[in-house]
Amino acid sequence: MVWNLQYDLSAWFVFLILIAYYASKRNLPIQRNYAFFTLMMSSFMLDTVDIIASYVASFPGRFPTQLNYAVNVIYYMVLAEVPFSFSFFCSFLFSRQRANNARYFIQAIPMFACIITAILTPWTKYVFYLDIQGVFHYGPGRIIFFYETMFYLAACLYEVIMNGRQMLMVAHLFSLYTYIVVTAIGYVIQFFFQPYAQVVSLAALISTLAVFLTFQGPDYYRERRTGFFDARGLQLTVTEDYRRGLHRPFSGFIFENYGALKNAYTEEIVTALLRQVATYVRTIAPKNTTFYLRNGVFLGLLGSKDDAIVMRDQLNERFQHPFVYRGNEYTLRPRFFYDPGLIPYESYEELRATVWAAISKAREDNNALSVLITEQIYEKARQTFAIERATIEAIVHNAVEVYYQPIISAETGKVVSAEALARVCDRQMGIIMPDDFIPIAERNGSISRLGEQVFAKVCEFVKNHDMEALGLDYIEVNLSPIQCARSNTAQRYLDILKEYEVDPSYINLEITETENTQGEVARNNILRLSSRGVDFSLDDYGTGYSNMVNTIRLPYSIIKLDRSLVNEYYCSDSNILLHLINHFNNSGKQVVAEGIETEEMRDALAQMGCSYLQGFFYSPPLPQAAFLRYVEEQNK
Ligand code: C2E
Ligand code: MG
Ligand code: MG
Repeated sequence: MVWNLQYDLSAWFVFLILIAYYASKRNLPIQRNYAFFTLMMSSFMLDTVDIIASYVASFPGRFPTQLNYAVNVIYYMVLAEVPFSFSFFCSFLFSRQRANNARYFIQAIPMFACIITAILTPWTKYVFYLDIQGVFHYGPGRIIFFYETMFYLAACLYEVIMNGRQMLMVAHLFSLYTYIVVTAIGYVIQFFFQPYAQVVSLAALISTLAVFLTFQGPDYYRERRTGFFDARGLQLTVTEDYRRGLHRPFSGFIFENYGALKNAYTEEIVTALLRQVATYVRTIAPKNTTFYLRNGVFLGLLGSKDDAIVMRDQLNERFQHPFVYRGNEYTLRPRFFYDPGLIPYESYEELRATVWAAISKAREDNNALSVLITEQIYEKARQTFAIERATIEAIVHNAVEVYYQPIISAETGKVVSAEALARVCDRQMGIIMPDDFIPIAERNGSISRLGEQVFAKVCEFVKNHDMEALGLDYIEVNLSPIQCARSNTAQRYLDILKEYEVDPSYINLEITETENTQGEVARNNILRLSSRGVDFSLDDYGTGYSNMVNTIRLPYSIIKLDRSLVNEYYCSDSNILLHLINHFNNSGKQVVAEGIETEEMRDALAQMGCSYLQGFFYSPPLPQAAFLRYVEEQNK
């Protein structure tokens, strides 16, 4: 008989192109990629040997019997290997723990059994045999290769069904199912319907292509502008390293003025500059695996022979000269970081947080050109990381706590309101203070949920208590500038007020002015809430962004003098505080003095005309029950 080779030959050429393309590109150095390359190579091998074996077998007597046996034995060996390669690839996709050699060995047993059977076939005639004329015949044992393949496919299918949903994206899952189904169909056709048409090779090609095109292509983890790998690529690489207990040194740099650069220039210019920098990095570190992590951060993994200092100096030398694009010059300032590989990172997130902590440390340290990532920086980052985790946990479980700090009327000495202050309680770290978690929540975007949770809890408090009987006029709630700059904030807050049926006049929102509160969106939020009866206080007056213009630009009814301002001036020769307070009083605004810690301060500020006083002299922020006791006691 003559084998039908048309499937084989067409598949062979496509495989050749695919493999050449894959091999010509730099791939992420992760086991999964090696396994996939092995899978592609074995499928290609299978195809090649298949063509040769079929050809040889098609012309009985033309080739020596030994050769005929040899190529067919090799064919069956590779046939046994391909499905194993796929299952090996799948194990890397799903392996969470450290690679376990014993497991891989057990996984390989069916393959070895088939390979040994194939090798013994010239003597046993079990899988196939050649008759006296040299004509090829299938033997009874051929079917074991079908079962072996089905076994591996079923094992992979099981893993994809059990773990796929949690660990992979839908498109990835889909391509794995495609691989399994197409391969299975190919085997069924070839083993039961078309024994002399090599459908298996075609099926291997189609299924491999499905995986290649969805997530195993060499460009899948590549950052488009630089051609380096992206953050997900770094995550995969180091996660695998850490699982194996490997901590490679790395170094990198960030553009100091990247944010400004991005705002100042068009996308085209930024892309061109990034590309030029990437090209230069490649000339200095041609062999290194390099990443571009967005926000102007470049990072490269270092080999044992690489000298980070030499590389840094070379790069720095280049950055001394401007980059040129379309005749214009652009100066980029880098700031380098270097990790010698001694820090036992447990996860990619830790590494990322540590790099950022190092970068901000360099900024504080008088703009040092480079930072060495030390154990100390790592510890600090871990701390930040732990706080972030605890905060997210508290937000998710609606467990952010609200403390209340009494605000006292200077005139009557009674508690007239309170400031709601958020607290996160963690089993290990205890009570975490807002100065530690608010900036993190602002950075990772969870501040809106956090703020809304605090606000809802305050509304619940107002709803469940008789404010008038307590003597409380309103509660002050902090509104983050980041929230101000989000367009749906006013609506969210109005919804919460409605949900708890709270009269808006019981709420005062405190805002600390920053660049985020200057925009149109913030203004609209504030005006919208204000028109519904919510009052606003300008918080931390006298620090940062606060200035006279801001006090009249928006409808603030209360100005809260910052603790530092109060502390600095209440007993100085300067009359500045007195003038400020007078000015605000004359413009119809009331003044709260924050940070009253002593009797002397209380007297001085009351004298100067502050309407309200807040500080440790009266009470620190208290949990709700303690606060209620305090109010009842004071307002008796
Ligand atoms: P803030 O709004 O200026 O709140 C006043 C802070 O000063 C509180 O710190 C309070 O405990 C502290 N304080 C009050 N009296 C005294 C005093 O006499 N001496 C001293 N040394 N400190 C005093 P806390 O609770 O740590 O809050 C810090 C900041 O975190 C707040 O400053 C506020 O900006 C922010 N924050 C707190 N809760 C929230 C929240 O729910 N949302 C938002 N966006 N920010 C919040
Ligand atoms: Mg405040
Ligand atoms: Mg304040």
